[in-house]
Amino acid sequence: MNQNNDFKCHIWFTEYHNNNVALSVRVKDILYMDKSEFQEIEIIDTYDFGKVLILDNTFQTTEGDEFIYHELISHVPLFTHPNPKNVLVIGGGDGGTVREVVKHKSVEVVDFVELDKKVIEACKKYMPKLSCEIDNEKVNLIITDGIKYVAETNKKYDVIIVDCPDPVGPAKGLFEKEFYKNIFKCLNDDGIMVQQSESPLYNLDLIQNICRYLKEAGFKIIMPYTYPMPTYPSGFWSFTLASKKYSPLEVDEEKIKEALNEMKTKYYDEEVHKGIFLATPKFLKDAIKKVLE
Ligand code: SAM
Repeated sequence: MNQNNDFKCHIWFTEYHNNNVALSVRVKDILYMDKSEFQEIEIIDTYDFGKVLILDNTFQTTEGDEFIYHELISHVPLFTHPNPKNVLVIGGGDGGTVREVVKHKSVEVVDFVELDKKVIEACKKYMPKLSCEIDNEKVNLIITDGIKYVAETNKKYDVIIVDCPDPVGPAKGLFEKEFYKNIFKCLNDDGIMVQQSESPLYNLDLIQNICRYLKEAGFKIIMPYTYPMPTYPSGFWSFTLASKKYSPLEVDEEKIKEALNEMKTKYYDEEVHKGIFLATPKFLKDAIKKVLE
């Protein structure tokens, strides 16, 4: 649509974080707009963040900062586990997480459970930088609800990654007690899970609840980790890792370094792996201590 390079479009997309704070990006082009049975889906092209996936008026991922999120949600659990073979990814319809997971040589099967076929189709067409490995032979795409999937499957995984949106609508149950019990059930005895767990500044109660439920489910090691995320509310975001056996602080750094010679990463390396846990801010550590002690 936008053919004249001298012209800068005057249309902006704004996500309102609350009544007082919002983030706006200038739109270059509107590439896709549709409504599925689950959500409104938009993909826009922007000047500073490249292509952006928006679901129900909320930033999901942008080409500009997705590497931070997708590398950290994938490589942290996959390098904490010494030999991950079977991986389950729940959500993550843009494909960014799956793209990172298949970089691991030990990984044999990635069951990719996404609720909304339309998100997959739109991202395959308009965001190939993220969706490029959805058709990888290791990836087994299953279009269904992740909550139902973990409740019903008898399969066991080494690593489960929950790449979910905010806890509203169909994603609400991905943050509830029952879900974590089923995740525990679906993991091998040395399994690890990681979940997108919102902003430590805006959603501390939610992170505390997640940790409480993970503890009740039976996980031995529960550790949130934080990172910058320019396009998410507050610009500061978290994942929460829960492990039955392995600690992310006890990894073989040389092994990671060697593996990274072949895998291209932009944010993650062996120093970031440990450092991200060691640099957990005090207010978050204090809040977690309260529910885990
Ligand atoms: N990185 C993102 C974030 O933090 O907002 C998440 C991106 S990814 C696009 C989220 C995906 O989760 C969406 O494609 C959505 O359709 C999917 N989803 C939502 N609820 C789900 C559920 N119950 N089971 C499986 N997938 C779900």
